[in-house]
Amino acid sequence: MNNFLDFFHFMDKKGKTFRPKKRFTHGTIRYSLHKQAQASLQSGINLRDVVKLPSGEHMNDWLAVHVVDFFNRINLIYGTVSEYCTEMTCPKMSGGSRYEYFWADGDKFKKPTALPAPRYIENLMDWVEGQINNEDIFPITTDIPFPRSFQSLSKKILTRLFRVFVHVYIHHFDRIVAIGAEPHVNTCFKHFYYFVMEFSLIASKEMEPLAELIKQICKEYSPTEK
Ligand SMILES: [Zn+2]
Repeated sequence: MNNFLDFFHFMDKKGKTFRPKKRFTHGTIRYSLHKQAQASLQSGINLRDVVKLPSGEHMNDWLAVHVVDFFNRINLIYGTVSEYCTEMTCPKMSGGSRYEYFWADGDKFKKPTALPAPRYIENLMDWVEGQINNEDIFPITTDIPFPRSFQSLSKKILTRLFRVFVHVYIHHFDRIVAIGAEPHVNTCFKHFYYFVMEFSLIASKEMEPLAELIKQICKEYSPTEK
């Protein structure tokens, strides 16, 4: 399994995921964009080129496809470490000793609240899943327009998903290495990073916890470049 998409298909089949995968509806533009994006990844095209908006396509469709794909993959990645991420091992949602995240969703948690990492990530993934499954926000056919807030909401989703990478990389990387998933997780992270950099979707201060990793594995694209 030297291709990282094969790895994700494999993990998906093994049922390691802790929530069902979100799929695109066959025959829609977003389904074909998703397939096109996957084919580009399979063919080994440079990841910096893979993330660029194909000519003639709409930014919101491109964004929607990537938000859903990244959600699915990050869900699988967290699924591989989730049994090692407990309230005992991770009483805080941290990324090393310098960063701690507090959960607020304006609904169940009105004020930013300290939670153990598995509870934080559970709330985060539930929240993202709720946004993605909301057809007013992620319309399933192209005759229904995206809401005006779509891009700002997508930024928020990606910013929150990034925190799962932070926690997994800093606290559970040994597990990723133990199952041989390191190159796949790194490729997924690079793809995610290049995508958010291409369209300036995540504030650079949010990326500080993984600055070292970014320096090491995303050499083609230093954060100061843009
Ligand atoms: Zn953990």
